[in-house]
Amino acid sequence: MRTPDGKSRHKLAGVMGWPIEHSLSPRLHGYWLRHYKIEGEYKALAVPSGKLAASLRALPAQNYRGVNLTLPHKQAALRIVDFIDPLARRIGAVNLVIVREDGKLEGRNTDAYGFTQNLRASGYGASDRPAVVLGAGGAARAVLAALIDMGLGRIHLLNRTQNRAHALAEELGREIRVFPWTESAQAFQGAGLLVNATSLGMQGEPPLEIPLDALPKEAAVADLVYAPLETNLLRRASARGHKTVDGLGMLLYQAQPAFEVFFGKKPDVTPELRAFLTEGR
Ligand code: NAP
Repeated sequence: MRTPDGKSRHKLAGVMGWPIEHSLSPRLHGYWLRHYKIEGEYKALAVPSGKLAASLRALPAQNYRGVNLTLPHKQAALRIVDFIDPLARRIGAVNLVIVREDGKLEGRNTDAYGFTQNLRASGYGASDRPAVVLGAGGAARAVLAALIDMGLGRIHLLNRTQNRAHALAEELGREIRVFPWTESAQAFQGAGLLVNATSLGMQGEPPLEIPLDALPKEAAVADLVYAPLETNLLRRASARGHKTVDGLGMLLYQAQPAFEVFFGKKPDVTPELRAFLTEGR
């Protein structure tokens, strides 16, 4: 079905990744499409690395409004799209590709937005206390950019491979101070927030066993890992009385601007949506 200006009424979007079977995004966008009764479709697109450029270039002819990108495509897309928004360039990763009216491709990053909105929704407000970030991979880059943009003046960064942390600090801002992975107790002094942006704690990965004794009781503890929902880190933090923030919220909030671009409606992140996505997990 087409509108008078020749556009398809059936709005089409998707997520490209390899593998893609485990992505929650089709279920998430599908929920919102049904909830808002929007005529549209969000597909899981299995795209190996060697096919990313051709698959993205094929989107305009296939009437796609855009796609999300997940592993392993977030960095590679920077070299393919026609325009990159400043935040995506700063983070060094694209997780949303928009097909413009003229068929050109625009790369954006909504992970930093997702992280910030999730923290805010959980009641965290930036303070003078330093935030501690664990990890220096793609997710950590989005978290660091988000924390700097929230106005955090002091961020303590720890990563197993310390050189990667130094490189990130140099690139992203003077707010970041690097600590050795083994000196977390020192990095935790006075902290108001601890964020796990490593893959430790994920299903199939070892747990994050960093000692929490030196972390002030008022510090919130956020984990980006969402499978499992309650990681070993969050369990230990809860037991010590810390406020905890799980990784599912970030995933839901990062999808909000993408859904709005694809389907023309800013969707709500609700307890019902969370319950729907965690059913049977
Ligand atoms: P990545 O780029 O591969 O980075 C992995 C990070 O984990 C690196 O800092 C790495 O340290 C560290 N690491 C891995 N194994 C380790 C070990 N045995 N000991 C200590 N550190 C270890 O991955 P990513 O894309 O940043 O993703 C990280 C996590 O965030 C994943 O669990 C992902 O699912 C999650 N994530 C969640 C969301 C969300 O919406 N909730 C969004 C994005 C990512 P080295 O530098 O030393 O290798």
